[in-house]
Amino acid sequence: MVSNNLVDFTGKVAFITGAGVGIGRATALAFADAGADLALVSIGEKDLKETARLVEEKGRRAHAVVADISDSDAIAAAISSTVDTLGRLDFAVNNAGIEQPNTPIEETTEEDWNRLIAVNLTGVFLSMKHEIPVMRGSGGGSIVNISSGAGVMGIRNQAAYAATKHGVIGLTKSAALEVASENIQINAICPGIIETPMMGRFSGGTPEGRARVIGQEPIGRMGKPEEIASAILWLCSPLGGFTIGHAFVIDGGQTVGI
Ligand code: NAD
Repeated sequence: MVSNNLVDFTGKVAFITGAGVGIGRATALAFADAGADLALVSIGEKDLKETARLVEEKGRRAHAVVADISDSDAIAAAISSTVDTLGRLDFAVNNAGIEQPNTPIEETTEEDWNRLIAVNLTGVFLSMKHEIPVMRGSGGGSIVNISSGAGVMGIRNQAAYAATKHGVIGLTKSAALEVASENIQINAICPGIIETPMMGRFSGGTPEGRARVIGQEPIGRMGKPEEIASAILWLCSPLGGFTIGHAFVIDGGQTVGI
């Protein structure tokens, strides 16, 4: 929980994609702790309902929408129903993403490539495309896109995922320039190895798999989703008010030595 009173979002609304589990859920709960109402988007209904319940348990309103972020009409409808239901849109965290099977490029299927691009890159593009006009209409806002350590370095057997996450940074920087003078801030966060269901699948969840991924972390442990959420809240608060188009690496030192 962020207790600094500059991070007080009472009366504000945060829209979060991929809010069912992991970084998205932790971010939703951190916004709720800071006083915001939440619009929650995910492809999986059961997890989404549980995040909504946890937000409401904190006394905040939750508007849950099952949608695939790669579907332009669905994401547009989610944003417009957020404004209808919660009255406004102040913050957007474009977090939903999928992982790649560990495959060299010649064994990566076109189906996997196309789905990774559709969700991780087109999904962020479509989210910003529909969020920006709403924010512009209400005098401003803050958007945080979730990239990855794979957005700032190459990773063997992860070319498709890394391409999408590099792309998110290009989208972020370019869109940030377009709207900075309109009181809309756009930034990205590049997490390292974070303990989420995605990382459980990626590592195999075995002691050996966990040790292998933790071995990439100078800090000697995985990050907690809450350690990404706190940076997102900082970026959305007045504390981060002069930060534009930045790709903020939060990774336990994973990329420091590259
Ligand atoms: P996760 O798989 O644990 O959770 C992802 C959430 O997104 C789930 O609720 C899932 O249902 C939802 N989702 C997936 N596809 C969707 C779609 N098409 N439309 C709407 N919702 C969808 O993932 P996570 O580890 O919390 O990762 C969140 C983001 O952070 C992703 O963009 C991921 O690439 C990025 N990231 C994660 C790590 C990590 O170590 N966990 C590291 C770097 C970057």
